[in-house]
Amino acid sequence: MSRYSIFSLIRNGLSYNQNWQRAWKSPEPKREYDVVVVGGGGHGLATAYYLAKEHGVKNIAVIEKGWLGGGNTARNTTIVRSNYLWDESARLYETAMGLWEGLSQDLNYNVMFSQRGVMNLAHTLQEVRDTQRRVNANRLNGVDAEFLTRDQIKEIVPIINLDCHYPVMGASFQRRGGVARHDAVAWGFARGADKYGVDIIQNCGVTGIRRENGAVTGVDTVKGFIKAKKVAVVTAGNSSVLAAMAGIRLPLESHPLQALVSESIKPVLDTVVMSNAIHAYISQSDKGDLVIGAGIDQYTGYGQRGSFQLIEGTLKAIVEMFPIFSRVRMNRQWGGVVDVSPDACPIISKTDVKGLYFNCGWGTGGFKATPGSGWVFAHTVANDNPHPINAPFSLDRFYTGHLIDEHGAAAVAH
Ligand SMILES: Cc1cc2nc3c(=O)[nH]c(=O)nc-3n(C[C@H](O)[C@H](O)[C@H](O)COP(=O)(O)OP(=O)(O)OC[C@H]3O[C@@H](n4cnc5c(N)ncnc54)[C@H](O)[C@@H]3O)c2cc1C
Repeated sequence: MSRYSIFSLIRNGLSYNQNWQRAWKSPEPKREYDVVVVGGGGHGLATAYYLAKEHGVKNIAVIEKGWLGGGNTARNTTIVRSNYLWDESARLYETAMGLWEGLSQDLNYNVMFSQRGVMNLAHTLQEVRDTQRRVNANRLNGVDAEFLTRDQIKEIVPIINLDCHYPVMGASFQRRGGVARHDAVAWGFARGADKYGVDIIQNCGVTGIRRENGAVTGVDTVKGFIKAKKVAVVTAGNSSVLAAMAGIRLPLESHPLQALVSESIKPVLDTVVMSNAIHAYISQSDKGDLVIGAGIDQYTGYGQRGSFQLIEGTLKAIVEMFPIFSRVRMNRQWGGVVDVSPDACPIISKTDVKGLYFNCGWGTGGFKATPGSGWVFAHTVANDNPHPINAPFSLDRFYTGHLIDEHGAAAVAH
């Protein structure tokens, strides 16, 4: 596969862009693989990429029921940060942040990672205390974090109204945080995995997981049975459905989470602003649209759409905080299905079925972890043992009680 570079751009330009190679092949599934990764979102594709690249696993397939990134990967609001409270999470998300910082070069694919900063507002004295505690914890873990006063917030975001009906009292700020282009992340990992010989198979839903004598033997798909020594499931909101196919129950609830974008406007907001208290967050994309999101709908379900009252509340909060946006028109709204765990932390784990692994429970905030999640999960699958970074995120924490409560840092704040 040829590298993308200024030279390939010129060469292909000279032949009227008729000779670009496909970014990945679309083969028919083989009868047997060493590892089948179920789910062609960012996490599944990253898992396959690192399995092949870092662990030399040769015979891998990614099986996706729809199209690459058509799940939450391309439905999210692309916020990337690593300023989580607890040591375990800080290590996990900071590993991801390190990988993000070199990802475009590593994949030879521009994922448009833009470190424009992520600001989390505090509106009450208690929120100020919690925010300062998190900033201190972040610093102890080597994660960049600052506490901003009202004046400092205003300097970074001059258009903000700090005196909305929950007045803003301060904020945390992670300058290395930011946004990335979500489809590009899926496509870049797909192209990278393809380069290492991974078969990427779209439009191929998994309908069953077969097991024999306590070990996985393969997956039933709409294209027939595929034998596999190991099956790694990375299906986000559908994880419980896949678990049921293998006779397992996961401590997850699937909820709709929605987002919306406005028409394009001139650049006015060059950082990400989030608020737990008023349940809304906003950034401006490189195209100029305002990208807006909120909290989950409270009911469970698999519909990729959300309820109207949530959007109404979110926009009310955004307009109060940014009166300048009051006449901007909204362009599109959509939903995804997020897999929420009881401690707002992911599950990256072996299971009681030999050769069957799950990576799920990322809830409202897994995009930021995509490269790190794939990296540690690949280690887990390749070695049949978790990496020290994801060991605390194993399923057994729900038996032992060693939960990692990240509700404060995860909540609406993606
Ligand atoms: C509206 C919204 C906003 C969000 N905002 C952010 C944010 O700003 N920052 C952040 O960090 N996170 C955010 N998230 C969360 C983030 O999108 C997810 O945690 C992350 O993208 C999960 O990636 P994934 O690859 O695990 O899942 P997905 O991209 O959902 O991939 C799972 C794939 O599995 C496939 N699949 C399901 N069932 C089967 C089957 N039976 N057979 C084969 N394939 C199957 C699906 O089709 C899908 O493509 C947001 C989510 C939503 C919905």
